[in-house]
Order: sequence, then C-alpha cells, then structure tokens
Amino acid sequence: MITFDGVTKRYPDGTVAVDELSLEAPTGEITVLVGPSGCGKTTSLRMINRMIDPSAGRILLDGADVTTVDPPTLRRGIGYVIQQAGLFPHRKIVDNVATVPYLLGWDRKKARSRAMDLLELVGLDPGLAGRYPFQLSGGQQQRVGVARALAADPPVLLMDEPFSAVDPIVRASLQDELLRLQAELNKTIVFVTHDIDEAVKLGDRVAVLRVGGRLAQLAAPAELLAE
Ligand code: ADP
Ligand code: ADP
Repeated sequence: MITFDGVTKRYPDGTVAVDELSLEAPTGEITVLVGPSGCGKTTSLRMINRMIDPSAGRILLDGADVTTVDPPTLRRGIGYVIQQAGLFPHRKIVDNVATVPYLLGWDRKKARSRAMDLLELVGLDPGLAGRYPFQLSGGQQQRVGVARALAADPPVLLMDEPFSAVDPIVRASLQDELLRLQAELNKTIVFVTHDIDEAVKLGDRVAVLRVGGRLAQLAAPAELLAE
C-alpha cells in the first residue's frame, strides 16, 4: 500500500506541482491519477520512486517513508512504465526485458528464460523476442515496456500514460490486458492518465487532480460516472 500524507512539491522556480495531496493506493488495486496536463500527475509518480522528493509531507510504502530508503533498493521493488516504452534501441527485445535480471546478476540463460515467460504473460508473440525495438509497433513496444517493468516481480507498478501514444483499438486491447494481468498478479498499481474514460475503465479508485496539484475528488469509478 502506498500512502500520500499531505504531500506538496514545490519546484525550485516556485511552481507548486502537487499541493497537500493525501490519498491511499491499496495493494491489489489500480489507483488512477487523472487530470489535465500540468496537474502534477508525473510529479506525484516520480516522488514514489524518489526521482524527486517532496517539499513537505510524506509518502509511505507499506508504512515506511520512502525518503528513508536508498533509491536503488526502493526501485528494485517498483516497476516503472512510461509513454514511449523507453526501450534500449540497441538491445533485442528479449535483452530489454532481461535488463533487470542481468543487473541482479542472474545467469544469462535464466534471465532470458524469465524474459520469454514475461513476453508471453503480456501477450507478445515470442517470435519477436530477437527483434530490435524499432522493428515493433508502438503497441508491441508498450507490451515490452510492461514486461520489462515486471521482470524483478516488483510489488508496485507505476504507469505514466503508458497507452496514450497508441491508436484507440490497440489501446483498448492493452487496457484489457492490464486488467487481466492485475487479476493474476495483484500488484499495487498507480496509473496516470489525462483520459477520464481510461480512468473509469481501469481504476478501482480514481483521484481527480486540478492544475495547481490539488485533489478535486477521490472516488470509485461508478461514483465518478454519476457526476
Ligand atoms: P502532469 O504530469 O499532470 O502533466 P507534471 O507533474 O508534469 O504534470 O507538472 C506539474 C507542474 O509542475 C506543471 O506546471 C509543470 O510545468 C511543473 N513542472 C514539472 N517539472 C518541473 C520542473 N522540473 N521544474 C519546474 N516546474 C516543473
Ligand atoms: P548474443 O549471443 O545474443 O549476441 P551478446 O552478449 O552478444 O549475446 O549480446 C546480448 C545482447 O546485448 C544482444 O542481443 C544485443 O542486443 C545487446 N548488446 C550487445 N552489445 C551491445 C552494446 N554495445 N550496446 C547495447 N546492447 C548491446
């Protein structure tokens, strides 16, 4: 479980990106942060894995303040997926997914076999494992990005607009796939999007943010629809 407890982020130039945000992202649920560009969604995610730290307030991961954990240790338990997949262009798909197992010192064979299992899990044709990222479609690359984020079996998955750059039909199938995966894996997922329909489809709970970084509403998707 992730807890935001009165979290504020003020950048050095004075911009308040997140303003006294308090919310909980329970284990086994998808918590969606939704709102227009600039409302502090990415800033909120980056504070969870300590790419940046809050100016005030605390973020707790299973009760422990994340700023008391050194970033490499913290990030071992947190998978991160971004909009443009962020794959290493000069590495084959299988090696992209095996990056973290290699770093953890697994032997090559075991790491690659783990990678192949993950590619299957995210629904990517295993025949693509030997290709390079530029040889895959955007949707396929996103699947690889998800597989790579899951490689060390982290309890937490942070997803920053992961499906925004793909066309609507592929997006819908990636969303369905994520729901299926989550039913199987039971992660703590924080999912960022500017698309309210996506938020309602994926979220067990939805936090609506306003520009200025304030929480406007925290609700179950059905309650949001009722508004
Ligand atoms: P979102 O992900 O919702 O689009 P961001 O978290 O990226 O929002 O940004 C929130 C606000 O903080 C915006 O006003 C943005 O311009 C500002 N911001 C983001 N990063 C920085 C930075 N490094 N320095 C100053 N302001 C920033
Ligand atoms: P293989 O037997 O699969 O070629 P290698 O150890 O030669 O094993 O390379 C493993 C993978 O690492 C390759 O598939 C390639 O994509 C990637 N790779 C090799 N060299 C580099 C490099 N200099 N920079 C980035 N990736 C590399």
